[in-house]
Amino acid sequence: MDIPFLDLIRIRSAVETFVTRAGADWSAIKRAGKAVPLGDLLDGHPLCLVEVKNLTPQAVALRLQHRGIDAALPAGNPRQPLAGFVYGDGLRALIFLNRDDPFARRRFSLAHEIGHFMMHGGGALARATAQPAKKQMEYNPDRDDPREIEAHAFAAELLMPWEMVVHEAAALRAGTLGPQRAILALAARLQVSRQAAARRLAEWRGVD
Ligand SMILES: [Zn+2]
Repeated sequence: MDIPFLDLIRIRSAVETFVTRAGADWSAIKRAGKAVPLGDLLDGHPLCLVEVKNLTPQAVALRLQHRGIDAALPAGNPRQPLAGFVYGDGLRALIFLNRDDPFARRRFSLAHEIGHFMMHGGGALARATAQPAKKQMEYNPDRDDPREIEAHAFAAELLMPWEMVVHEAAALRAGTLGPQRAILALAARLQVSRQAAARRLAEWRGVD
C-alpha cells in the first residue's frame, strides 16, 4: 500500500506494544516464522472476542444491550453486513467478528480491530468494518478514513511482519519460487488469506 502519510513507525510500535503487553516476545515470534498466535496474545489484554452470524450494526447493538451497554453506534445502515466491529470504553473492548467469514479472513478482521483498540482507543471507541462487496475478495480500507488505513496496516504488520515474509519474497524475487507457489506457501504458513499474502508479497521492497 503506497500511502505517503502512513506512519509505519507508530504502527509497528503499536504492534510491538500489543505483543509485549501480552507477555510475549515479538522478536522470538518473528524468528519462529510460524503463524502469529493471535488467540494467545488476545488473552493478555482486556479484550473479549464475540463471533456472531450475520454481523450487522443492529446485531452489535442487541448484544451490547444484553451486556447492559447502551451505546451510540456509528451512523449508517443498521443492516449493513460487517466483517468486524470494535466497541471499547477506554479500559476494555469487545471485538465482534462475522462468524460466517473464512478462518483466515476472521484472523485479519480480528487483527484489524485490535489495531483500532491499540491506536484509536483511549476513550470510547465504536468502529465498524464493512463487509467487502461480494466480488471483492479482500477488505479494502476506506481511503478517506486514515484510521481505517492505519488499522489495516496494523493487521498486516502483526500477521505478516517483513521478517516473516522475506523467505517467500526473496525466493520469488530470485525466481526460485513461482508467484502462485509463493502466495500459497505464505498464506498457509502465516494463516492469512491468499489475497492478503499476494498483496503483502507485492508490497515487498527488499531487505531493509
Ligand atoms: Zn476498521
